[in-house]
Amino acid sequence: MVITSRNDSPVFRRYANSQLNYALVYVVITLVVLLILNIYCSKVSQKLFYQSNERSMIEKCQLAADEISALDVINNSTVADTVEQLGSLKVNRLMVTDHLGWVIYDSYGTDVGKLALLPEIITALDCNDVFYWQYYDGAMQSHAATPLFTNSIVSGCVYMMEHDTAQGALIKSLQTTILRITIILELALILFSLTFSKTFSRRLRQIMASMRIIQQGDYTHKLKLGGHDELAFLGNEFNNLTEKLQTSEQKRARFVSDASHELKTPLASIKLLSDSILQNDMDMETVREFVGDIGNEAERLNRTTAKLLSLTKLDSRFSDECEIINIVPTVKRVIRMLSGIAKENNITIEADLEADNPILILEDDLYQIVFNLVENGIKYNIPGGKLYVKLLRQDDNAILSVTDTGVGIPDDAMDHIFERFYRVDKARSRATGGSGLGLAIVRAIVQRNRGHISIQTEMGKGSTFAVSFPIFDTEEEDL
Ligand code: ADP
Repeated sequence: MVITSRNDSPVFRRYANSQLNYALVYVVITLVVLLILNIYCSKVSQKLFYQSNERSMIEKCQLAADEISALDVINNSTVADTVEQLGSLKVNRLMVTDHLGWVIYDSYGTDVGKLALLPEIITALDCNDVFYWQYYDGAMQSHAATPLFTNSIVSGCVYMMEHDTAQGALIKSLQTTILRITIILELALILFSLTFSKTFSRRLRQIMASMRIIQQGDYTHKLKLGGHDELAFLGNEFNNLTEKLQTSEQKRARFVSDASHELKTPLASIKLLSDSILQNDMDMETVREFVGDIGNEAERLNRTTAKLLSLTKLDSRFSDECEIINIVPTVKRVIRMLSGIAKENNITIEADLEADNPILILEDDLYQIVFNLVENGIKYNIPGGKLYVKLLRQDDNAILSVTDTGVGIPDDAMDHIFERFYRVDKARSRATGGSGLGLAIVRAIVQRNRGHISIQTEMGKGSTFAVSFPIFDTEEEDL
């Protein structure tokens, strides 16, 4: 069988695009999350730096302020001496101003005598300790200022500035590393998403291609999906479904061929008989005989089509259609109906119908079961034979058994006895007007009514067909 792959069809492209869209959304979401993480990490590292520097800068400022406040005279040289005595403060710039902000001392020496309007100095002159830092030109610049007190009055302020390239480089490298990791992670994610979406699409494409093959009627096709994920599970379920389709397709084909064969045989006989009447010069007696045969064949056709219809109805009917009925009246009706044929065949029917029990079933269905079993018991019996019809209760089940003293059923036929159109002895079945559908109908009805059917048989001695149904206890239901 030639299989044309239509994976590039618009429908599939839509599915494939949706896969890509999912992958892109996934990538965007992870990108946003990574960016947020990136920003958070760099903020946390800066905060750590801020906290460790703030305390040391303010302490240095206060130390210098204490020493300078203790001076009798605060001027450029006295402050310079004090700063020198303090030793290494390890700051880049130190300024001291008076209470108006005029610079008394500047370690750079550039702004002495000038008005220093730095925001830190203005805040410190307002009686506050200040710390502020910024990342500038690859370095961390920390600014701190503290007020100078003389007799509890603000007499100026000490301002310090530290330009830390080592810490700056550390933070810079930390941020660069985080950014690099983010980019590598994102690239890996993009790669993973694309590969995943491609693999997923490829496997989906495999499933869709298999579906098309099945659509074209090749039920032997098997889908081979590796792995142990949901798609592999779906693949297994798909194969199971295909197997079921294949089985039911085989059954359907066999049924159609069997049914056509069954209908063809009486039709061919009718044709043959009517041709003979037309082509041969016959006396009235023979014509009557031939017409009688045509009638019999037509009757057989009628019976077969009626049974076929009955089977088709059973297939399409809902199983919850039923009524509560007693078994005995139906059994008696069937025996009455078939007593004529039984007499013709010299068969005695003995009925032993114990206390009747109600069951849930359609009366028509029960009639068909009993009719087919009793009719078979008569058809496949020996002349002068007997037929026992028994009804008894066993636990919560009503059991109806039909026992004949007939030919029995061979072992190898037991597996097929319920199949449509199956007959053990074709000639005998035809001679007795059998269609090979009776037991198939019986089994279908029994199964759909939650019943059970069993056969016991011995060649040359006879067979017992027993059907059991759960008793519908009306008293319990009423409680
Ligand atoms: P049919 O219309 O041919 O009787 P059934 O489906 O009722 O079709 O039965 C299928 C076959 O099973 C029959 O052709 C017959 O060979 C066998 N069979 C059914 N009932 C009995 C029986 N009581 N004793 C022996 N053989 C039976």
